Amino acid sequence: MTYAEVILPLPLEETYTYRIPPDMEKAVTVGCRVIVHFGKKRYYTAIVAEVHTRAPQSDYATKEIFALLDAAPILRRPQLRFWRWIASYYLCALGDVYKAALPSGLKLESETAVTYNEAFEADGPLRPNEQSVLDAFAGTVRLTVSEIERKTGLRNVMPVVTSLMSRGAVVINEEIKKGFVPKMQTFIRLAPEYQDEKVLHAAFDELRRAKKQETLLMTFLELSHALNPALAREVSKKELLEYSQMAPAVLTGLLSRGIVESYEKEVGRLQVPVSRLRPLSPLTEAQEKAYDEIHEAFKSKDICLLHGVTSSGKTEIYVRMIADALRSGRQALYMLPEIAITTQITERLARLFGDKLVVYHSKFSDNERVEIWNKLLHEGEPLVVLGVRSSLFLPFKNLGLVIVDEEHETSYKQQDPSPRYHARSAATVLANMHGAKTLLGSATPSIDSYFNATNGKYGLVELKTRYGNCLMPEIIPVDVKELKRKKIMKDTLFSPLLIRKMQEALDGGEQVILFQNRRGFAPVMECRHCGWIPHCVHCDVSLTYHKFKNQLVCHYCGYTQYVPYQCPACEGQELRMLGFGTEKVEEEINALFPSARVERLDMDTARTRSAYERILSDYEKGKTNILIGTQMLTKGLDFENVSVVGILNADSLMNFPDFRAHERAFQLMVQVSGRAGRRDKQGTVILQTSQPEHPLIQMVGQLDYKGMVSLQLSERSMFRYPPYYRLIVMVLRSRNETVLRELSEVYARKLEQHLGDRVLGPVTPVITRIQTLYIRQILLKIETSASISPVRELLDQTHKEMQRQYPTFKQLILHYDVDPV
Ligand code: ADP
Ligand code: ZN
Ligand code: ZN
Repeated sequence: MTYAEVILPLPLEETYTYRIPPDMEKAVTVGCRVIVHFGKKRYYTAIVAEVHTRAPQSDYATKEIFALLDAAPILRRPQLRFWRWIASYYLCALGDVYKAALPSGLKLESETAVTYNEAFEADGPLRPNEQSVLDAFAGTVRLTVSEIERKTGLRNVMPVVTSLMSRGAVVINEEIKKGFVPKMQTFIRLAPEYQDEKVLHAAFDELRRAKKQETLLMTFLELSHALNPALAREVSKKELLEYSQMAPAVLTGLLSRGIVESYEKEVGRLQVPVSRLRPLSPLTEAQEKAYDEIHEAFKSKDICLLHGVTSSGKTEIYVRMIADALRSGRQALYMLPEIAITTQITERLARLFGDKLVVYHSKFSDNERVEIWNKLLHEGEPLVVLGVRSSLFLPFKNLGLVIVDEEHETSYKQQDPSPRYHARSAATVLANMHGAKTLLGSATPSIDSYFNATNGKYGLVELKTRYGNCLMPEIIPVDVKELKRKKIMKDTLFSPLLIRKMQEALDGGEQVILFQNRRGFAPVMECRHCGWIPHCVHCDVSLTYHKFKNQLVCHYCGYTQYVPYQCPACEGQELRMLGFGTEKVEEEINALFPSARVERLDMDTARTRSAYERILSDYEKGKTNILIGTQMLTKGLDFENVSVVGILNADSLMNFPDFRAHERAFQLMVQVSGRAGRRDKQGTVILQTSQPEHPLIQMVGQLDYKGMVSLQLSERSMFRYPPYYRLIVMVLRSRNETVLRELSEVYARKLEQHLGDRVLGPVTPVITRIQTLYIRQILLKIETSASISPVRELLDQTHKEMQRQYPTFKQLILHYDVDPV
């Protein structure tokens, strides 16, 4: 008898054993998907993790595998090992890792689409359930599993669907190879007779009375470079309309004049359209040196940190390394912290690597993600994958290089749901499993990485000059407390120096960036009389005021309410604003510089990818003079004409109850400062603060990264924080506050018996309640030098004891956050 250990898509610690039916014995292999019965009448798509012949203790209770979904594994060899590492290091369920790793198109779930094969002819009688499932397709060819359940009234149709699938009556999602609809897109080009400059001039005369069509035609020419064969590229209808912000009717007008014409074209979902490839640019002397040093470091180390100031050309070095990997027949992974910034880099890489570039992130559709997965799984040729953290889970073959760009970014850490992994650490482990090298890059490295690079664990390469000998910006701290005391700055967010610098920049045709790390008009409202502050009804957080909609919004759960007319506590009529957000900045700027074109970049204005791209591209082109933004501004953007950056409130960045607050504040301020400066002129940064003598402000002013690190390290070692200690947060949640308070106390004391003063708490976090669940946390500080596995065992053991001894422990939900950020 043979058995399979399978991973279920459920938060279960372990794998489960199923019997392999004799007719499947040869076909079931590690990495295949199977459908199994689990719990009360539910079927799941599970992954085979092991095939063996060890009979389980109670063999009679072992169920059989219901169906096999794949003829060949959908995972490559090291992937399961990687999943296991994540589950074991981040103290989470293997099932959670499985759920995060596979694109949902590969997981048969209730939302999975099932397509009816119209050419199907039954080779024998159908069972009643099968017949009723097929009947559900009357009038349609595509239904989701849950729609089928609703239409047939059957409780669990997954097994029926699978058996129909094996008979060829239906196909599931990604298996729709034949019926696969190629993605078509409409493109716009100049009509043949207008591809001549003179004729085109005449066309513009014709358009003098149709201003919008004229603008649209101009935009088209700008995008397509239609008159310059060397630069010409194809422009889709979608791109043109989004970019020009014109209504489709304007394009229809232009089409009906016959100046442009439209054509359909199949576009691969994977490919970024490029008309011609470009060679790599030659490296500068400094870049060449850094590149050589990285190679040297990789001779003895697997990981290297590239600390290169903003605009030093780190990307040029990355692409060089990627080209090397591809040339030696290996794959490369280029990781970025966020989807938003993939756009700029995608274009850059597409021009260099053409169809060797694959982009992967969660904003892609299921089909697209499955397509990419299969491409890597079946082809395995040298490719470069550009992606966010989830791309770590792709079926790489012969990975040779992993690049973690902007490695200091906290968004590399997954917060929710489990697995709460740090993609930077996980990347180094993945690389190690492939025998690949990892290159971490940043202008402001995380202290954790820098620590490892200076104590010899990683290689360290520094790049201290900007490309084109552009100067680093001059950073001027401005004491706003003093200005307020002297009544020079009254009812304004801007110091006179900042206003003057902005005016000079605008007069000189240069651009300005204003950084305020909060969206909304003013984050908090307060009653003038009694101090009442509106809070979310679900979460213990204050609501943020959004002026545009005149609403109060919870930034944790999205709860919204209108601004009350009076204070509900004291009926006072005066509600005032505390602090200020980007919307308030915009309002004041509009009043101060009425003729400037101003835009705001934050989560509210850049909700969609196209909105984000439009705001940035308008700014890049100089259509906007002043850009106001949150930390979205700080991420890997490259502008050419910015001479002044204003950091409006440094204090709000620094005064944060977190041991990384100063590290993070330094990174944000230095990164946003790095947007200032041009080839021929030094940029200016005005740093408004009420603590100009604060050591951190001084260090930002002098761009003294090393000074910041050494001050932070001395504090971290004193207060037992990373990189000297590893933090593990145990998060306990419950609807029942009393049970939570009592049991978290007992839990902590139990752990203390073994771990002593490494246990802190339980404490109530800053936000004590989210979505009606109360929260308590126990913090563990474990020496980094200590081995983690005994700790893990101890935690498991204590957890089991708690479950055994306290029946009410069932009312608690526990998860761990290892290396929290
Ligand atoms: P970083 O990532 O270090 O901030 P980038 O790689 O984005 O810097 O480079 C900043 C700018 O300088 C980009 O516009 C880039 O095209 C240009 N640049 C850097 N190095 C070179 C080079 N060797 N040849 C041509 N352009 C370069
Ligand atoms: Zn809320
Ligand atoms: Zn009040």
